[in-house]
Amino acid sequence: MSGDGGPVVGRLSVVGVGPAGPEWITPEVAARLEAATDLVGYGPYLERIAGAHHRVHASDNREELARATHALDMAAEGRDVAVVSGGDPGVFAMAAAVFEALEGAQPRRWAGVEVDVAPGVSAMQAAAARLGAPLGNDFCVISLSDNLKPWSLIQRRVRLAAEGDFAMAFYNPISRARPWQLGEALGIVREVQGPDTLVVLATAVGRGEREDVQISTLGEVDPAAANMSTLVIVGAASTRVLERPSGRRHVYTPRYVESAESR
Ligand code: SAH
Repeated sequence: MSGDGGPVVGRLSVVGVGPAGPEWITPEVAARLEAATDLVGYGPYLERIAGAHHRVHASDNREELARATHALDMAAEGRDVAVVSGGDPGVFAMAAAVFEALEGAQPRRWAGVEVDVAPGVSAMQAAAARLGAPLGNDFCVISLSDNLKPWSLIQRRVRLAAEGDFAMAFYNPISRARPWQLGEALGIVREVQGPDTLVVLATAVGRGEREDVQISTLGEVDPAAANMSTLVIVGAASTRVLERPSGRRHVYTPRYVESAESR
């Protein structure tokens, strides 16, 4: 039953399918996808997971609100709709757009639609796990895309995060339309934290031979080595490299912060 006592007529599942292959899809998300009659999302994600029983509604990555509205309309007709994002649906993805659509509509328009969000493995978790534990202490997460917010706000957040000695994960670091933002963001952190601060460019994590993970410092990193499939991790002051006897290098941030490093 919906909150006002009316019948539930349809269901909308907002799910995240992880940053790469099926091993990073949770059993809950797999079950939602199996139950769904219709899949809504960005084409390349849908191709990865669509089954023979699905109606597939692919759309452009930029039309989030229109896509959410379409999904809610289908659910209101009694369909079982899954709105699909890569990674986690709540991290720079479709979950917020669904609630934005719900809030903007007439209260009764989708009254019978039950909306549930199922979490997924986010790119920062996959990238951090590849390295070891670079996000093992306090960290913050910033999208460098200024499509939906002003660049001045991003600059301010990056600077304050650096002043707070947070490790950081940057999503959407670079694109053809936004070629300089990553270099500028890394420059802001470098001004505050210094050129020896660790930075990792983790590209296409989990996607087989395309995966590329580079460990560097703010003094040496080349922002042009990042692309749209890169998750950037910038270390805190205490973030360090641990080299194992095999030569494999891990990056981690200790749980315990020395008072000298806490500024
Ligand atoms: N909801 C997604 C993020 C969508 S924004 C999540 O939770 O992961 C898209 C950005 O995610 C990309 O620009 C990149 O920064 C990051 N990303 C997605 N998949 C990735 C992967 N396999 N490896 C590295 N970064 C990835």
